[in-house]
Amino acid sequence: MEKQELPLWKKLNFFKSKETAQNGWSQVVADDRDAETIYRKRWNYDKVVRTTHGVNCTGSCSWKVFVKDGIITSENQQTDYPSTGPDMPEFEPRGCPRGASFSWYVYSPLRIKHPYIRSQLLSLWREALTKNNGHLVKAWGSIVEDQDKAKQYKEVRGKGGFVRAEWQEVNEIMSAMLLYTIITYGPDRIAGFTPIPAMSMVSYAAGSRFLSLLGAPMLSFYDWYADLPPASPQIWGEQTDVPESSDWYNAGYIIMWGSNIPMTRTPDAHFMTEVRYKGTKVVAVSPDYAENVKFADNWLPVNPGSDAALAQAMTHVILKEFYVDKQEKYFLDYAKQFTDMPFLVLIEKEDTVYTPGRFVRASDLGLAVNKGEWKPVLWDAVQEGPAIPKGTIGQRWDSTGQWNLKMENESGEALSPLLTFLGLEDEQICVDLPEFTEGGTGIVKRGIPVKLIMNNGKLLRVTTVFDLMLAQYGVKRNLPGQYPVDYYDEQTYTPAWQKKHTNVETELVIQIAREFAQNAADTLGRSMIIMGAGINHWFNGDTIYRAILNLVILTGCQGVNGGGWAHYVGQEKCRPIEGWGTVAFARDWSMPPRLQNATSFFYFATNQWQYETHSMDGLKSPTVTKSRYSHPADYNVLAARLGWMPSYPQFSENPLQLSTKASQAGAETSEQVIRHVVEKLKDKSMSFAVEDPDNRKNHPRGLFVWRSNLISSSWQCLLCMIRQARLPSLLARCWIGAKGK
Ligand code: SF4
Repeated sequence: MEKQELPLWKKLNFFKSKETAQNGWSQVVADDRDAETIYRKRWNYDKVVRTTHGVNCTGSCSWKVFVKDGIITSENQQTDYPSTGPDMPEFEPRGCPRGASFSWYVYSPLRIKHPYIRSQLLSLWREALTKNNGHLVKAWGSIVEDQDKAKQYKEVRGKGGFVRAEWQEVNEIMSAMLLYTIITYGPDRIAGFTPIPAMSMVSYAAGSRFLSLLGAPMLSFYDWYADLPPASPQIWGEQTDVPESSDWYNAGYIIMWGSNIPMTRTPDAHFMTEVRYKGTKVVAVSPDYAENVKFADNWLPVNPGSDAALAQAMTHVILKEFYVDKQEKYFLDYAKQFTDMPFLVLIEKEDTVYTPGRFVRASDLGLAVNKGEWKPVLWDAVQEGPAIPKGTIGQRWDSTGQWNLKMENESGEALSPLLTFLGLEDEQICVDLPEFTEGGTGIVKRGIPVKLIMNNGKLLRVTTVFDLMLAQYGVKRNLPGQYPVDYYDEQTYTPAWQKKHTNVETELVIQIAREFAQNAADTLGRSMIIMGAGINHWFNGDTIYRAILNLVILTGCQGVNGGGWAHYVGQEKCRPIEGWGTVAFARDWSMPPRLQNATSFFYFATNQWQYETHSMDGLKSPTVTKSRYSHPADYNVLAARLGWMPSYPQFSENPLQLSTKASQAGAETSEQVIRHVVEKLKDKSMSFAVEDPDNRKNHPRGLFVWRSNLISSSWQCLLCMIRQARLPSLLARCWIGAKGK
C-alpha cells in the first residue's frame, strides 16, 4: 500500500529538486489537475440566451448570456451584427464594463423580491377588513374617509417602517383602492408613472394598458426628469429623431456639446474616434476636462448653463458671414425650403412702438382658400406678392393631399420665396426686441425692412422671420437702431458679449463658428453636433437646446447624412410604435387614452403651485407691459380650460356619473351629452378640477409607479412631497429588475 503524504508535507516537497527538461527551463511534475475542475464548473452552462440590458442606458448592445440551472453564469458580447457596409467601421463588438457585470445586479442581495407595506396601513387594513366583514371596498373607504385613520399612515411616510407582506394581501388592498376610488371619485383620480418605454416596452405597456383599461391617466416621463430634449418635439414634432451613431463616421466636422461620448455612448464612441483618421475635426464644449475632451482638437470650456450664449454668438457669426456678407447659396436654398425663415410676420404698433406679432395667415389677406386661418404665407419673388406654400398645417388638414415641401404654391406653380425685404421694402422701422440679459427687462430697438399691404382698407405691416432674426441677433445691414459695430462690441449677441457669460475666448468662438459653417458649405451639410443631457438640465433648457439647433438648421445640416443634430442617447425609440401604442394604451378597447404631462400633474397634486417663487413679471417678455395673469398656475388652468392641454382629474365630478346625469337630463346622443357638460361648465355648476386643486373632491387618490425612482428623479418633486404628503393614498412601487432613473 502506497504511503499517504500529508498535504503540508506535499507543499514542502515543492522545494525538493525535481526532474527537469528543456535544459533546466521546465520541470516535470506528476500532480493531479483537480483545480481545473472548479474552473470548468464555473464556466459550465446549459444554454445560451441572447439579450441586452434594459436599464435605460440606451446602448442596447447584443449579449450572449450563459445559463446553468436557470442561473446566469457569465456573459459575452455577441458578434453577429449586420455589416455597416464598405468603407465603414463595424458596430461590433458592443458593450461596456457596466454591462459586463450586469448579472451581479440581477442577483444583488439588495434587490427587493417581496412586497412591502407600511405597518400602520397594514394594521388599519386588517382591522377594517374584519369590521366590514371582508368587504374590500367598504374596508378601504372606512380608512381613507376617516381623517384620523388616513393621517395615521400618511404621517409616517418617509420614516421607514415597512413590513414584508404577501402578494395576495397587497393585491387585495390595491384592488380595494382602485374600486373605491373609481366608484366614488372616478378613474381619472388614479394615475400611473413609469419612465421611457423604449427602455423596456413590455414593462411600460403592461402597466399602462392596465391603467388605460381602467380609464386612468398615464403621466409623461420625458419632461419629468428633464433628461430628453423637449426642444426636439417643439421644433420638428417628433421625439428626438437623430441618426444612428455610425453616421458620426460620415461627418466632416463634429462638435460634442455637453456629451461625454466615451462615458455615455461607450459602445459607439469608436465612430467618433475613427472618423478623425479621415480628417474630421472634433470640438468639445464642456465645462470640465471630461473623458471626451481628450479626443478633441479644440476645447471650449463653457461656464455651466451658459451654452445658449455660446450658440447665439456662433449664430451671429454664421448669419453675418454666410447670409449677409456673402450669400452661401446652399444655406439660402435650404432655409427657403426647410425653415420658416421666409414666412411673413405681422408688425404691431401701439402708440409709437412697433413689436413683432404673429405669422401672417392667408385669411389675413382675404385669400379665398380652404383652411385659410391655418395657412401662413410668404413673399414670392416670381409673382412679387404673397403666396401660400405647400407643407403648412393648413394643407395637412385641407384634404388636398398637398402636404409636402415642394417649392410650389398651392396651384402647383414654381415658388421662389424671398428671405428678406431689404432693397424692396416700403419703409424701414425700428422694432422693440426683448433682451433677456438685463434681469429679463432689457429692450433693444433694431431696424427692419417692412412691406405694406392693404387689405379691405386695413394697412398691414409685414416683414420676414429672417429679417427679424437678423435684427434679434444684431447682424448689421445699414438699418437704423442699436446694432453692434463688430464682433468685439459687447451688445447682444456678439462673440464678445458671449465671453461675459461663457468665459470662452471671443476669437475661439469666431473660429469654430466659421469652421463649422464653412465645412457645411463645402460638404453640403456634413457638420454635426452631438448633444448631451447636461445642457438640458436648466430652467428653460428647451431654449438652450433650440439656440444650438439653430446652428445645424442655418447651415443646412439637419436631415443630411453625416450632419445635423445627434443626440447623446440612442434607443429612446419604440420601433414598433404603432402596434405597441395600441397595446400600451388599450386603443383596441377605447379611445382616446388619458395622457397628461407629469410636470403639471405634480405641480398641482403636490401643491408646488403654492410655493411658486417665480412671478409672471419675471418670466414675461420685456416687450409686454403687463402679463395676463400674475401666477404661472393660471396659465396652466387656461390651457386646460381651452383644451390645449389634457388635465386630470378632469372635472369636479366623477366622469363616470356625468353621462348618467346627462341621460337623466334628457341627453340621448354623444353630442347632447357633450352639450350637457359644456352647459354645466358655463353655468358653473361644474368646474375643471385644476381650477380648485385644494378641494378634496379634486385630489388624485392613487398613484402607480413602476421601475422608477419618481421622487429622486426630480428635486423639485422631492421638496414638495416632503412639504405636502397628501398625494397618493397608496403608492405602489414595483421593482421589476430595472435600475430605474
Ligand atoms: S452600453 Fe453597457 S450597459 Fe448599455 S447595453 Fe451596452 S453593455 Fe449593456
